[in-house]
Amino acid sequence: MRKEPKKRTERVAVVGVGILGASVGWNLTRLGAEVVFIDAARPGEGVTNWSFSWVNASNKTVRKSYFDLNVASMAAYQELARAVGPDSWWYPGGHLRWADDPAAEAKLLKTAELLVGWDYRVEVCTGAEVRRRLEPALAVPDDVPVVFCPDEAWVHGRHLVSRLVGLAVEAGAEHRFGTAVRDIGTGADGAVRDVVLSDGSRLDVDVVVNAAGPSASHVAGLVVRQLPMRWEPGAVARIACAQVPVHLPMHAPRIEIRPDGDGSVVLHSREIDALIDTGSEPAELGRLLHESARRVVPELGDSRITQTRVCNRPIPVDGFPSVGAVPSVPGYYEAVTHSGITLAPAVGRLLAAEILGGERDEMLADFGPERFGS
Ligand SMILES: Cc1cc2nc3c(=O)[nH]c(=O)nc-3n(C[C@H](O)[C@H](O)[C@H](O)COP(=O)(O)OP(=O)(O)OC[C@H]3O[C@@H](n4cnc5c(N)ncnc54)[C@H](O)[C@@H]3O)c2cc1C
Repeated sequence: MRKEPKKRTERVAVVGVGILGASVGWNLTRLGAEVVFIDAARPGEGVTNWSFSWVNASNKTVRKSYFDLNVASMAAYQELARAVGPDSWWYPGGHLRWADDPAAEAKLLKTAELLVGWDYRVEVCTGAEVRRRLEPALAVPDDVPVVFCPDEAWVHGRHLVSRLVGLAVEAGAEHRFGTAVRDIGTGADGAVRDVVLSDGSRLDVDVVVNAAGPSASHVAGLVVRQLPMRWEPGAVARIACAQVPVHLPMHAPRIEIRPDGDGSVVLHSREIDALIDTGSEPAELGRLLHESARRVVPELGDSRITQTRVCNRPIPVDGFPSVGAVPSVPGYYEAVTHSGITLAPAVGRLLAAEILGGERDEMLADFGPERFGS
């Protein structure tokens, strides 16, 4: 039986205002909670601003329940775009992927078949068709099979954070930016009671949501909880070009490319990420990304790198999200996940409902924080 939402208004501290914190906080505000957004730096400027930002489920076939959560979040993005308006952050239109060696190509086509079996929209085109219909500037061979997923998208994470936080603040949410959460106080019953900020202030709260991205383990430690996370850093470069020569996000061999709004393109590569721990400087990683991108989109030869940043991915150690209550610390919740760009709308909606309604959605069943112990 469904529990009635609690009568008393909850005061919730959302710790970390990247895409996860912004989505949880916006949803909580809509449901009537008093929200305080707290960020050690500026909202939306953590990993969320240094992500490839591809909204997809096609890369999430490792476990069906994880795939389903990502599909649900893709649908939640459509609703979010209707609710808050799509301009400046929502870029639907699909995603392209192809390979240049037989083994990788066979794997790609096998995954495409699996996806079709799971009712996911996939088209397999040729390079020549892609150039004619979608991306004239690509140096993709004519006959190579290209997997096109038309329901995928990319999101401008920083702009979306700003939209969600702005709307929540208009509706009464508070914010403390430029101050870190230094401590989380609990009462004699072990329940969350307050948070202490780095400026020395203390806020009385009923609930804390740990949405601190790569720093989530540290914040979990403030309630004496261990949240084991991976070290899996990624390098992203932004390049400026007079005219952006691509329209869609794409995984080409050894390089990922997507538009990034006005006069800008974002580049990422798993192969180049592998150089981070060998001590390569971000500037060198950016140069290598740019070189690879020019081979796929020759028009990028005229562009220049504006910034390269290395960030750690916020990935719990088993690779799956940690979302929900930690029963041993009443009032403490986690919203920590890789693929957070894709998952933010679903996680925000489901977690806000769990916090205020006391009931966990079946879709989150495999992703509870309690699997790491208490
Ligand atoms: C190279 C790369 C590529 C990626 N590509 C994709 C992709 O294509 N698709 C996809 O879905 N996902 C992708 N991701 C993952 C995605 O970017 C992240 O899962 C998502 O941005 C995480 O958002 P977040 O809100 O949890 O973290 P963040 O955006 O980092 O926000 C956390 C915030 O917490 C604040 N904070 C930390 N500690 C404290 C504290 N003690 N007190 C107060 N505030 C604090 C920080 O200042 C920060 O603003 C990628 C990640 C990387 C690194």
